[in-house]
Amino acid sequence: MKPKIQRNLAPGRKKDDTVNLNQLPGKPSPYKLEAGEGMRYVIGRHLATVIARAEDLGVAMAGTILSGSKGAHFPLHSHQSTHEAMFILEGDVSLTLGNKVFELSPGDYVNIPPGTPHAFTYLDHRGKLVAWTFGGNANTLYAALGQPYEGTVYSESSADIDWGRAVDGVDVQFVDHGSDLVASTAKLEAAPEGAVPFVLRGGEGERMLAGEQLYTLMGMAHNSDGLFHSLMTEGPKGPMIPKHMHEKTCETFFCLSGGMEMLVGDEAISLAPGDFLYIPAGVPHAFQLVKNDTRFMGFLTPGNFEQFFRYLCQPFDGYMYPLVPPPFRFDRVIQHLAELDLKLLGRPGGPPPPPPAAAA
Ligand code: FE
Repeated sequence: MKPKIQRNLAPGRKKDDTVNLNQLPGKPSPYKLEAGEGMRYVIGRHLATVIARAEDLGVAMAGTILSGSKGAHFPLHSHQSTHEAMFILEGDVSLTLGNKVFELSPGDYVNIPPGTPHAFTYLDHRGKLVAWTFGGNANTLYAALGQPYEGTVYSESSADIDWGRAVDGVDVQFVDHGSDLVASTAKLEAAPEGAVPFVLRGGEGERMLAGEQLYTLMGMAHNSDGLFHSLMTEGPKGPMIPKHMHEKTCETFFCLSGGMEMLVGDEAISLAPGDFLYIPAGVPHAFQLVKNDTRFMGFLTPGNFEQFFRYLCQPFDGYMYPLVPPPFRFDRVIQHLAELDLKLLGRPGGPPPPPPAAAA
């Protein structure tokens, strides 16, 4: 195990606020994992890198990066009480979702409510995806069925396992393939209403602009009965957003490209592509995009903070943040502050809001 890197505690801060690097804390606290770090398991022909467990987050939520070679298969299964979401990072992936078969590519997003049978196979070498689970404990499958693994990439020589082996207390039920599969199902360009299974094509979702940044809501709170919402944030390098905290909302930051500077309490933490940072409820934080064309993905639980982005942003039909940014609508955020799980601790930056007459 990597040595624990303790940061000096700022005066007045509780021990729990320490940001740990490259280890899972085992108790709820802010922590950063560098790319490739986490609890690693070989499970069949997959490498599962667990980056967040319920005990690290203090909420029923967990994240795992799965990777494998061409043809590696994760057999059909469902979860009784776990809601899952997947995002493809590298390579094409064949996904069975209910009775539909999709060909997924990087950037595609999958919503998997409890009870939905799902399976996947990597179509390319170096296949990689990130899976987040909510509500149930399906994520404990990797520790229960997998073997601890020191490598940081999947082994091409690992053999498949007996997936059907029941694991007591783990919310994973392996099921037989149905005979009525619908191949080559079209991916959606907008999330449907309600907690239903769906696949959203890369770049799609509810898009909006806040200053120079494009926010894309992929999974909305109503898609998981309020458990979480997920969004992509992308933009050029720019100023730090105002420091703030949430009383109930827990936030994850997963940097996909470019680079970010985070404020966690009073500590500055850098995120490079593949790095992960957890911000539990109650911890002041802010972020800054420090490289051009930075993209990061966030899963926030519970899901009711999503309305904040609609107050802050302007709806946007495009897919690429424009050269001339519209104003940050902090005026609207302030107006609705009472209904938002948001405590502002800094002054808003970005272009000023329009004059009151134009503010709707
Ligand atoms: Fe936040």
